[in-house]
Parts: sequence; C-alpha cells; structure tokens
Amino acid sequence: MKYVFEPPGLTSIPVANSAQEFPVHRVYCVGKNYAEHVREMGLDPKRDPPCFFMKPADAIVTTGQIPYPPGTSNYHYEAELVIAIGKQGSNILAEDVMSYIYGYAVGFDMTRRDLQISSGKLGYPWETGKGFDYSAPVSSVYPLSDVGRIDSGRIALTVNGEPRQDSDISDMIWKNHEIISELSRLYILQPGDLIFTGTPAGVGAVVPGDKLVASIEKLGEVAIEIVEPL
Ligand code: MN
Repeated sequence: MKYVFEPPGLTSIPVANSAQEFPVHRVYCVGKNYAEHVREMGLDPKRDPPCFFMKPADAIVTTGQIPYPPGTSNYHYEAELVIAIGKQGSNILAEDVMSYIYGYAVGFDMTRRDLQISSGKLGYPWETGKGFDYSAPVSSVYPLSDVGRIDSGRIALTVNGEPRQDSDISDMIWKNHEIISELSRLYILQPGDLIFTGTPAGVGAVVPGDKLVASIEKLGEVAIEIVEPL
C-alpha cells in the first residue's frame, strides 16, 4: 500500500507490570454520572438516559506534561475510572459484561468548560469542549486478572497537594455493568475501546504550573502537570 503521507501511529497505553501495550480503538465517555457533580453543574441528577460522548483516540496521552489548550479560559480537570474493553460485543446483557472487560485505568477527562457550556446552550455538540488534543491523560492499564472487579473504592484528586475530589466509585448513577450494556446497544464495542465513566463532585479550573494527582483504590496514582500552551 502506498499512502500519500506517512500514516499516524497507533495510540497505545502501557499495561502495568508488563512489557505489553494496550492499543486504543475508540474513547467513549459518560457525563453526569455522579449526583453531587451533576448538582455542582447546576443540573438535576437523572438516571435516564445515560449521557454518552466521545473523544478522538489520539486525545489519549500517557505522558505527564499536558499543554494548556487553546480557545479556553476555563480549563477543568475531571478524575475518572476508565474501563478498557478486551472483546468485541453488542447488545451485551448487564450480567455478562465482565468477560468484555480487559482492565481499568485512572483517567482525566480534561474539559474546556466554557466551550462545553456555551455549545450546550446553543444545542451544539460537545466536541470542542471535550474532544481536543491532549484531553485524555491516562495511567497504565491494570488487567482485571490482576486487580479484580472495580465497582467500589475511593476515587480522589489533588491539585498542588490540595484535596479537590474525594468520592467513591459506588456513587455512580450508572454502574459499570450498566454503562457497558447500554453503550453496546448503540455501538459495536471493540477490543481497544476505553470508557471514561464520569467524574465526582469537586471539578475546577487549572492553569500552567499546576500539578494534578488522581488516584483510585486498587489502581494507584497518576500525576500530570499542566504546562505552557504549545
Ligand atoms: Mn467527564
């Protein structure tokens, strides 16, 4: 095959305690999935229907230096549990989801909050607020076989050492098995898909120089630093 230019490389994430990499296919996200966070956004927590959106696969980054993005003056962090899918499936029953999970990661759903809110008010898509370059920093992927099922456990985030988010995975409105089942009714899930499962309360703005640490019980910590725009 002769391409008109060199094809871009595949995005992949290191697998913890392994020389292997997890190749990324698609990045799905769930919005409004912790009641206290929905309230802090000025909305009523509702269970129906789940709020799904996507980020481009190459928004995933595994390095700790994250450039401040263009086009915003209100750049927010959101610490989230990320599910890594390891098997193709559609119309998956909630009771069958475990065999589709390869593992988990700690992720940041970085958000241009001003653009997310203004596009929402206009009835426009969320892409400019959510799906931009470097908007999805993640930790290594931890295989399910190593860490076990994660349906509860502390999720927390600090900025420059100050606690900002501190909640529990069990506080999700839509649970992991329901998220996978619902998403698989809308899309054919593929090995390599990632699902960001939503953030708890305590989101806020960051600027260059800020150091963020997100942690999830059983998965450990991941640190990033916001640096000057490219
Ligand atoms: Mn989010």
